[in-house]
Amino acid sequence: MATLEIRDLHVTVEADNTTKEILKGVDLTVKQGETHAIMGPNGSGKSTLAYALAGHPKYTVSSGTVTLDGENVLEMSVDERARAGLFLAMQYPVEVPGVSVSNFLRTSATAIRGEAPKLRHWVKEVKEAMERLHMDPSFAERNVNEGFSGGEKKRHEILQLELLKPKIAILDETDSGLDVDALRVVSEGVNRVRESGNVGTLLITHYTRILRYIKPDHVHVFADGRIVESGGAELADKLENEGYEAYVKGGASA
Ligand code: ADP
Ligand code: MG
Ligand code: MG
Repeated sequence: MATLEIRDLHVTVEADNTTKEILKGVDLTVKQGETHAIMGPNGSGKSTLAYALAGHPKYTVSSGTVTLDGENVLEMSVDERARAGLFLAMQYPVEVPGVSVSNFLRTSATAIRGEAPKLRHWVKEVKEAMERLHMDPSFAERNVNEGFSGGEKKRHEILQLELLKPKIAILDETDSGLDVDALRVVSEGVNRVRESGNVGTLLITHYTRILRYIKPDHVHVFADGRIVESGGAELADKLENEGYEAYVKGGASA
């Protein structure tokens, strides 16, 4: 079983000619088959964690370690991270001109699996996955992220997740900007991948709403750049009722 281990992770960004520490010692272990929710107020550093794990150049790891099955993730290129089995939704946030969803997915699958999926099987696989996500078949021919609505971006994210079959998936704000129907379809996708038992999921979210559809095994409260409390699914219920006030210094959210 694959294990992602984050140990005492500190991350800084450069802003206005100063170095600002955003992550202040994050410790977290995610194993294949587990679903962890990271919840916290706006500005607490949740997306910074996701970007740092994705290897985004703006985010500097100043100390700490991240390993996948003992391999140093921080030394890997973005492609190597994907091939090692890490799925980071924000890895491909940009438009890819002239590359269709269908070709993009096949290229990604080829890179990860080490060989090109047989075209006939692949077309069927993509078609079926898109049907499960209630996506119009024409979506496969569109250019990646070109004019995608918020909901289409999220569905595309889950489509990748279903087809690329990573060991560890990091989903940042997968619930944001989705109406209830889209949220249900996207959550069902995450649950299908999860039921395979082969993926460990790190679900990063500000709202408890998505946790009505996806039941986490572990919930972590994130505040001021670190995990300040961990518990089971009941912790999400507590947050839903009480909010983050108790965790935020001075009671005011950034
Ligand atoms: P969250 O996802 O929990 O809302 P973020 O990780 O987006 O939090 O942001 C945490 C803090 O780091 C905020 O104060 C934000 O302004 C700052 N920050 C994040 N990314 C950058 C960046 N690229 N440049 C400057 N400041 C940043
Ligand atoms: Mg934010
Ligand atoms: Mg965020």
